[in-house]
Amino acid sequence: RATIEVIGLRKRFGPTLALDGMSFTVQPGQVTGFVGPNGAGKSTTMRVVLGLDAADKGRALVGGRPYRSLSDPLRHVGALLDAAALQPGRTARNHLLWLAHSQGLGAARVDEVLELTGLSGVARRRAGGYSLGMRQRLGIAAALLGDPPVLLLDEPFNGLDPEGIVWMRELLAGLAGQGRAVLVSSHLMSELQDTATQLVVVGRGRVIADTSVAALLSAV
Ligand code: ADP
Ligand code: ADP
Repeated sequence: RATIEVIGLRKRFGPTLALDGMSFTVQPGQVTGFVGPNGAGKSTTMRVVLGLDAADKGRALVGGRPYRSLSDPLRHVGALLDAAALQPGRTARNHLLWLAHSQGLGAARVDEVLELTGLSGVARRRAGGYSLGMRQRLGIAAALLGDPPVLLLDEPFNGLDPEGIVWMRELLAGLAGQGRAVLVSSHLMSELQDTATQLVVVGRGRVIADTSVAALLSAV
């Protein structure tokens, strides 16, 4: 099953306790909003799930397995960590072709994800001239290349204009509608309240509230 399980993660950076018993589950078919102030531990949690940081305690599983034990991780998990690290001289299309090649995918899949992310028209321009919003789209395109059932997106709304925000909401809903597990972080509840079906609210490295949005709205 396409799930993300975060189980009692603890992580210290020197004097800072970044994660203090972080626990929650992301289910398939849901957009799970991961919301909390800057410094709450959202990025660190995602990095631990992706095997980029080691936790001091606890476990993180993707589809029931640690990320590092997946044989073909990019076909299981797509991630947007910060607006695509780009080589400014490279075009968006070349950037994706290079990533696709490393996953054994071809140009047809690159053109598909360019279409999905609305970048087809600008894909042959140098990325150095891209706005932050275009970089976010390119980061999403890269995350979708392997058609993964699990997505972790860190602040995907950053840098998007109002039209881009509406587009991102529809994209996320569509991806969850296809049965994917989608975890989306934001420091702004307003970005997630119309997008997420589940909310995991965090502060100081732990979960403060974990609820379906429907249950939350019926309670207020
Ligand atoms: P969020 O994504 O919710 O803004 P982060 O996970 O980035 O939060 O950060 C959680 C805490 O851990 C913050 O206090 C941050 O400064 C600290 N932190 C994160 N990464 C590092 C690092 N590599 N070295 C030192 N401190 C870090
Ligand atoms: P639509 O007909 O509105 O595009 P789809 O069911 O084809 O609806 O897609 C739902 C959402 O998922 C769309 O927003 C699309 O961007 C995205 N999507 C569709 N196919 C794929 C795919 N193969 N890989 C990644 N994302 C996809």
